[in-house]
Amino acid sequence: MVSENASSLTGHLPNGLAVVEEAVARACMEARRDRASVTLIAVSKTFGAEAIEPVIASGQRVFGENRVQEAKAKWPALMSVHPGISLHLIGPLQSNKTKEAVALFDAIHSVDRPSLCEALAKEFRSQARRPQLFVQLNTGEEPQKAGVAPSEADSFIASCRDEYGLPISGLMCIPPVNKAPAPHFALTAKIAARNGLKNLSMGMSADFAVAIQMGATHIRVGSAIFGHRG
Ligand SMILES: *Cc1c(COP(=O)(O)O)cnc(C)c1O
Repeated sequence: MVSENASSLTGHLPNGLAVVEEAVARACMEARRDRASVTLIAVSKTFGAEAIEPVIASGQRVFGENRVQEAKAKWPALMSVHPGISLHLIGPLQSNKTKEAVALFDAIHSVDRPSLCEALAKEFRSQARRPQLFVQLNTGEEPQKAGVAPSEADSFIASCRDEYGLPISGLMCIPPVNKAPAPHFALTAKIAARNGLKNLSMGMSADFAVAIQMGATHIRVGSAIFGHRG
């Protein structure tokens, strides 16, 4: 038993996951944070079961997908043979997919508009499921990007709670590409703190160490674990 555990932790970790795990542990140590305070979400979008299986086999249990349809096609079969998987929706959610999303996902990171809140509240009433909810911020105020503008965040978070009765657990952000991510992580952390939200979904393959330094509780790491997406 002991040698089996030892080999599954050393010899058989898929290379990308081992490298990421080590970097996460180092970033936590440098930030004087407990490793358990950071949830690593392995973002498996575009990858099939044959790529996901070894990552599950190595002990990873939290996965992220950005499309409801793709996740529906892949995960029910994987989850039926691997108990204890937690699935996070990290991409935009269309209101007409809310029913499927609430049924499948354990967390939704892309709450960003009243019509979606209304659809989520309806599903929370009719399904016995309560995925953890994150409000997505558009910290770079990029017109093509989803998310709530920083100036509207406080009132949106309040309306999620007060008008729709949705428990919001944290904030998510995707900094603009080719910009230093730290100011975006700092702004997200500041808005979360003043709204009493303790979870911060921020940091991807290129910048998760910075995000951990700035308080991320959930990092969303794809290519550093699975390799380049085709
Ligand atoms: C794809 C994706 C990620 C992972 O990106 P990598 O750079 O591959 O780590 C994280 N967050 C969101 C919202 C994504 O769509």
